[in-house]
Amino acid sequence: MTIGLTGGIGSGKSEASGILRELGALVIDADIVGHETYRSGQPAWDEIVEAFGDEVIGLDGEIDRRELGRIVFDDPESLKRLTDIVWPKIREGLKDLMAGERDGGGTDVLVVEAAVLFEAGWENLFEEIWVVTAHEKDVLERLERQRNQNPEQTRARVRAQMTNEEREQRADVMVRNDEDRAALAATVKKLWTDRTR
Ligand code: ATP
Repeated sequence: MTIGLTGGIGSGKSEASGILRELGALVIDADIVGHETYRSGQPAWDEIVEAFGDEVIGLDGEIDRRELGRIVFDDPESLKRLTDIVWPKIREGLKDLMAGERDGGGTDVLVVEAAVLFEAGWENLFEEIWVVTAHEKDVLERLERQRNQNPEQTRARVRAQMTNEEREQRADVMVRNDEDRAALAATVKKLWTDRTR
């Protein structure tokens, strides 16, 4: 069984995928697959340098993701150029990884954690889509307390994204992270038992 796990910033995706891992799932982080696609020698490296210039090449010859982030930050057109290059390659990377795991037979449940799952159009890679949601006020408070993130900035980022309602419409399973961590663990455990039976 393959599950795509998504949700808004700070909704609790990592927390939920950690619980799934403890329950026995193999969890793949789409960000890590993404970073692989950027590496020198990989096709995205050339395309990114062609699109954004040599200044995105770091001293070690790898893409300087901080510099790239600076360029696309607050510039929807550049960001789209970047995601048009990278998202299809991550999709292929995920597909290959998943096929490898399936053929290897090493795991019964494979979870891919992907913040941009819907935006990038990766839905049909998975049998089920699980969406983690948390109320905006809880996200602001958790990120302020645990990551020292400014609530106003968090709010702006949350509001720039898809809404929870939009995600919910496309979800097979909702994981509501509105209480404490113990409650989230209980919710995920119950879903795991129901869905993998
Ligand atoms: P990001 O979008 O940054 O990748 P995420 O969706 O993976 O975030 P997490 O990192 O799992 O979210 O959670 C965000 C923060 O909130 C973390 O510091 C996490 O420990 C905390 N957190 C998550 N769920 C709860 C909860 N139920 N109660 C308290 N804190 C929580």
